[in-house]
Parts: sequence; structure tokens; C-alpha cells
Amino acid sequence: MTPEILRNILMDVVKEDGDVAFFRLSLTCRLFHDLVSEASFRKKGVVNWSAYSSNHKEMYRVPYKLTNCLWCGDLFKDFPPGYIGDGKKAILHGFSVIKEFEGYCSADCFICDGNHYSPKEN
Ligand SMILES: [Zn+2]
Repeated sequence: MTPEILRNILMDVVKEDGDVAFFRLSLTCRLFHDLVSEASFRKKGVVNWSAYSSNHKEMYRVPYKLTNCLWCGDLFKDFPPGYIGDGKKAILHGFSVIKEFEGYCSADCFICDGNHYSPKEN
């Protein structure tokens, strides 16, 4: 089996199982670990990006970071403005345009740290 065929099979697993598949596959064996760790592999997934214009992709095809919350210190998925999903094919939880709690894992932590929250009005 060529690495490309194996890569396609592993991508199908990621599309079915979501982000958690990256962890499971990378623990399976050295070969799987190396394939799913490739930046090009991790960039694929979630949304059918070929259906969008290059401007749209440039603005919204941005990976999340893992950030420590400023209040509780927990690691959380820090999504930049754009699509919010869990890595599963065709499953999107929403689309965010603004970040309301920059640096915090939740509204609770944002408020506990002494910030005032008032929903943004249009
Ligand atoms: Zn927190």
C-alpha cells in the first residue's frame, strides 16, 4: 500500500470520528503517528473547502490554537473568527465573526476575572 492510499484511509477515519481520531491514530503506531502529524494532513478535513473562493478560505480557513484560560488556567480550543466545529465531516457548530471572551475558556471565567459582559449589539 502506498503512503497516499494509507493517508486517504486515515483521512476517512478523521472525517468520521472528528478531532479525537488524530490522537487515537497517532497512538496506534509510529507510521500512523508520522502521517497524521504532517501539517498537510492536519489542514484537510472538516469543511469542503474546494467549494469556496480563495478569499473566503484565506479569511476563515484558520486552525484553532490551544490556549490556557486567563482565569482557570485550563487548556481550551481557542477558535479564531470563522468556522467552529469538532473536526467531523459536515458537522459545524457555528460560525463566529467576533471573539467575545478573548483569552477565556468560557463566559463564566471571563466574568469571574472581573470583566463585564454585555452582549454586543448590531
Ligand atoms: Zn477558564
